[in-house]
Formats: sequence, C-alpha cells, structure tokens
Amino acid sequence: MKRLIFDEDHEMFRDGVRRFMQSEIEPHIEKWRDEGCCDPLAFQKAGEQGLLCMWADEKYGGLGIEDFRFEQVLIEETIRHGDISLFLSLHSRLVGPYIGRLGSEELKSRLLPKCISGESILGIAMTEPNAGSDLAGIKSKASRDGDDWILNGSKTYISNGINGTAFVVAARTVPDKPHGIGLFVVESDMEGFSRGRNLKKMGLKAQDTAELFFENVRVPAENVLGDPEKGFYSLMHHLAEERLISACQEVAHAQVAFDITMEYILERKAFGKPIGAFQNSRFKMAEMRTSLDILQTFIDQCVLLHNQGELSAELAAEAKLNASELESTVMDNCVQLHGGSGYMSEYRISHMFTDARVSRIYAGSSEIMKEIIARSIGLDERKLSG
Ligand SMILES: Cc1cc2nc3c(=O)[nH]c(=O)nc-3n(C[C@H](O)[C@H](O)[C@H](O)COP(=O)(O)OP(=O)(O)OC[C@H]3O[C@@H](n4cnc5c(N)ncnc54)[C@H](O)[C@@H]3O)c2cc1C
Repeated sequence: MKRLIFDEDHEMFRDGVRRFMQSEIEPHIEKWRDEGCCDPLAFQKAGEQGLLCMWADEKYGGLGIEDFRFEQVLIEETIRHGDISLFLSLHSRLVGPYIGRLGSEELKSRLLPKCISGESILGIAMTEPNAGSDLAGIKSKASRDGDDWILNGSKTYISNGINGTAFVVAARTVPDKPHGIGLFVVESDMEGFSRGRNLKKMGLKAQDTAELFFENVRVPAENVLGDPEKGFYSLMHHLAEERLISACQEVAHAQVAFDITMEYILERKAFGKPIGAFQNSRFKMAEMRTSLDILQTFIDQCVLLHNQGELSAELAAEAKLNASELESTVMDNCVQLHGGSGYMSEYRISHMFTDARVSRIYAGSSEIMKEIIARSIGLDERKLSG
C-alpha cells in the first residue's frame, strides 16, 4: 500500500540508509549473532553517516531533526537490511532524549557529541531482579551527599548492557514514596559501576543484554536528570515514545517476514504446484496483508501525532499492543508456510520468529498495555474496586 506520510526527503534518506545497511551492517550480522553482541564500531559507522541522535541540536554536532519519520525510516531499513537486534534507536531516540531534554548543559556538551558520533553508546536501566512491570517497586537507591548522589543497587535485562558506556539509571530517592524515583546518568568509567555477563537469550542474538551493578557509585550533580524526586513522571512521559519505537520495529519486522515468505511460497513446490497456489496459503497471505496494511496506517498516524506532540500514552499503548500481537501471529504463520525450512536456522524466518517473541514482553508487556488502555476508557481497577 502506498504510504502517504513520507515525502521526497524521507525517500532520499531511505535510499542512503539502505545502502549503508547493505554495505556496513548486513555482511556482519551472522558473526554478531554468533558472538551474542554487535561490534560497537557499528555505532561509530552509523554516527559517521549522521544516523545517531538526529534530533540533537547542531551545537552538539547533531542535525536538529525532530521529525520522527526519519527515525521510522531508519528503523525500517535497519530491520529489512540489517537486523532487529541492532538497537540504534534505543540509543538515539529512546535514551538520548532523556539527556537532551533533562540533562544539565555540562552533561549535554560533554556527552551528546560522543552519542552523535557513536563513540558513546547509551542504555536505560529501569528493570531490577524484583521489579519489571511494576516500576514503582524498584529498590536501587540514591542518597544525597552534598551536591553529589551515591547510588547503590542492581539492574537486569539491560539492552546495550555490554557495549554501553552511559546509562540512564532509575533509583529510589524518597524511601517511603512509591513514585519517589530519580534518574541518574552513570558512566561506565565511574568507580563502583560493573557489569555482569552477557545474558543468553531465546532471540535477539546480536543484542547484548546484561546485568548492571552499582556499589556506592558517586554521581555528580550535573549527571542528575531533572528533579531527582520526579523521575517516575519523566519515565512515564518518555515511555509513550518508547512504545511508538517498538510498534514501528514490530510492524517493520512483520512486513519483512511477509515479503520473504511471499518469495518462498512462490518458489517452493508441493503436489506439482507452488505452495502459494494452495487456498490456505493464499488466504493466510491475504489475511496478513490486510492486517498489516491496517496496522501500518494506524502506526503512521501515531507517528504524525507524535510529530505534533499529540501522541497520548494510551494511543502509544494501542500501537504497541497491536503491533507486537500481530508480529507474533505473522511470524507463526510465516514459519508454518515455510514448512521444515522455517525451523532451520539457515532460513531467516526461523530466527525472526524467536526475535519477535520478546515484543509482547518488553517495553511494557501486552497485559500492561491493556491496563493503560482500559484505564483511559474509564475502566480503572483501583477506582472501580473502591
Ligand atoms: C531482551 C530484553 C531486553 C530488555 N531491555 C531492557 C532495558 O534496556 N532496560 C530495562 O529497564 N528493562 C529491559 N528489559 C526488561 C523488560 O522491560 C521487562 O522484562 C518487562 O517490563 C517485564 O517485566 P518482568 O520481566 O519483571 O515481568 P513481570 O513484571 O514479572 O511480569 C510477568 C508476567 O506478569 C504480567 N503482569 C505483570 N503485572 C501485571 C498486571 N498488573 N496485570 C496483568 N498482568 C501483569 C506480565 O505482563 C507478564 O506476563 C528487557 C527485557 C528483555 C527480555
């Protein structure tokens, strides 16, 4: 379906990103998947092309591009010609803006140029061994010491956890207040910071996911993001964009699965005809085409709303819920249409299936998305239960 949201500039940008992905990323994906981590140089190469933190102000070396459609194009081409586990957008658009919007001038002038060049790689550390969906339950804590803060605790499942050089860390600053949380930028050379192993996962094999530990890490005042007691609200505010990024990734991933399956079923024959000639295959493909077009249109609309600063938390939740659920369905159908090949690692669809499974869990699980949407339509459990 022709998408109306892009203009000539976006399409020119797409061509450039595609060429970059095909020459600099695609040839290395298999090696990175085997190694469980991409080469951090991939970020520097993306930086050289001006693909990181495009929103950042020119005074820090950025392009000052706030239009989310460029990030959307980058996401789509990364997935089509690279791999969904290369988390450039987590670095640029999910974590970077915390520093851009809430950081001190000292922090921005020191860190942003390195984030734009890819010399510094960003991650965000919210989840803890005992607090995932329930963010208000985090136990890591930060205590004031003069102008500095002393941070203690541990985090888990942190993306870019091995390659990352700076992390936005959520820690409790007000002991008895569930939402009394602050956000702190911890840099990997700070004393008391350490990482655990690269966690082995079902999918996203080229993505490094790790535990992080903080033992009396001294965080200077200039590394505090916004009001140290109101970080929870900043997280909630930024999570809408995180969910939009996820939705863009998930629909793009499903679109690629659809395309490679189309090629496969036209080529592979059974009972003297292409698999694609069977009514079941034609109907499955027709159903997926319809659902993908509807979803893409909705997500494109959310992108436009986001560009206008009007994307609500509940619309972002709807986009993420729909996209992650459809992605799973599409992957399952596509593996089935591939037959035994779909289960073999040499076929891309087999790992796309396992890569997709996490989409319904991270960046807010499907159940949490339904909670947010239900509350927005007046079905708030806490209020209804009195
Ligand atoms: C590959 C990967 C990368 C990740 N990257 C990051 C990262 O970079 N930074 C970071 O901070 N975190 C990251 N996470 C963590 C991720 O965000 C959490 O796993 C997610 O929020 C779910 O939390 P949990 O694992 O503790 O599950 P739990 O919260 O224990 O949930 C378990 C189950 O219970 C359900 N559930 C929980 N609460 C409710 C409720 N109120 N109503 C109904 N059902 C409920 C959940 O939906 C889920 O199905 C990552 C996770 C993975 C797997």
